[in-house]
Amino acid sequence: MQHDGNGWVQCARGHRHWGRHGAAGLLLHAVDDVGAVRVLLQHRAAWSHHGDTWGLPGGARDSHEDVIAAALREAGEETALAAGALRVRHTFVDDHGGWSYTTVHADTPVPLATALNQESEALVWVPVDEVASLPLHPGFAATWPAVRAVPLVLLVDVANVVGARPDGWWRDRAGAAGRLLLELDALRAVTVPVPGGQPAVVGRVAAVLEGASVAAADPAWVQVDRTARGGHGDDAIVAAAAGLVGAGHSVLAVTADRGLRDRLRSLLPPPAAPLGVGGVVGVVGPRWLLDRLDHVDRP
Ligand SMILES: [Zn+2]
Repeated sequence: MQHDGNGWVQCARGHRHWGRHGAAGLLLHAVDDVGAVRVLLQHRAAWSHHGDTWGLPGGARDSHEDVIAAALREAGEETALAAGALRVRHTFVDDHGGWSYTTVHADTPVPLATALNQESEALVWVPVDEVASLPLHPGFAATWPAVRAVPLVLLVDVANVVGARPDGWWRDRAGAAGRLLLELDALRAVTVPVPGGQPAVVGRVAAVLEGASVAAADPAWVQVDRTARGGHGDDAIVAAAAGLVGAGHSVLAVTADRGLRDRLRSLLPPPAAPLGVGGVVGVVGPRWLLDRLDHVDRP
């Protein structure tokens, strides 16, 4: 039945919730022009339950639909975003007993234009790091620490990755590096798992070029770091990682170079560091990156 989910229920914890079959919301990520990972938040209309707070677009699930369909339908009504423009990644269920709320994690490369309906005062793409400082809907405030993604900088040892793909790169190193840089553009705002199992969203790609590949052309979004002529690529990558970590970024480095991996791992954040403390969260090999480039879904 259409909208048979509309109605109040009491959960096992004694709260009153909207949604007879539970509710679902869309946690949508995108990356702005300066590399900040943003999420789309709704400033809830004053007349609504817990009005005048910030939360996710979403609402009650109907009995005939699954939670992802419910989140996309409700978010579509409230934001005018087309579901086809979004890449749905995973869900997180907050089960209260007798009622549950499902957060649907999705991403899209850039912050898309939205249109309000009467349920919102505003729709704003908020930097992930600023969400907790807003007056949040109490339900969203409770799940935010569990659902928030780590904004990630991918630091790519271009020569090492290019060398891992036998596509004739040795005949034209600058051309092969340039092709990889263009491909890396497709990773904008893509959700990737990082060691520890936490979801992360790629906010920036920093690519280090060395030797003959420094002549490669720059793509729009990927930040390219060229080592000085005769400079050592490993030193440039360690320096780039240290600079990013020092600025508070979480860095996932891509290289198979064993000595470089050990140097990068010395930049790990301290054990049990809180989110937002920068560090090298992991070092992965070229195969990890090439697999992602082969399977990236373009919306
Ligand atoms: Zn409850």
